[in-house]
Amino acid sequence: MKIKKNDKVIVLSGKDKGKQGEVRSVLSGKGKVVVSGINMISKCVKPTQDKKGGIEKMEAALDASNVAIVCATCKKGVKISSKALENGDKIRICRTCKKQI
Ligand SMILES: [Zn+2]
Repeated sequence: MKIKKNDKVIVLSGKDKGKQGEVRSVLSGKGKVVVSGINMISKCVKPTQDKKGGIEKMEAALDASNVAIVCATCKKGVKISSKALENGDKIRICRTCKKQI
């Protein structure tokens, strides 16, 4: 999966279409990502000793194919290519402006 934690992404479909957020976690096995402020759901929380119960808002994972990485240069969601450097490192490149993400 090309998306990594802390990437800035834009949502391509669904109720949060057009919104941007930072990737909080990547569930690579499931092909899903959790993005801050995106795909919020309400969850009932049982009260514990140090916390009141109630309804808590939290982000639900969404399909990684529904988000695109935002290129800092293009300032929009772009397609990403990966490129292997001579030293073996892999970098990600914006397909639009060819700059490293
Ligand atoms: Zn770009």
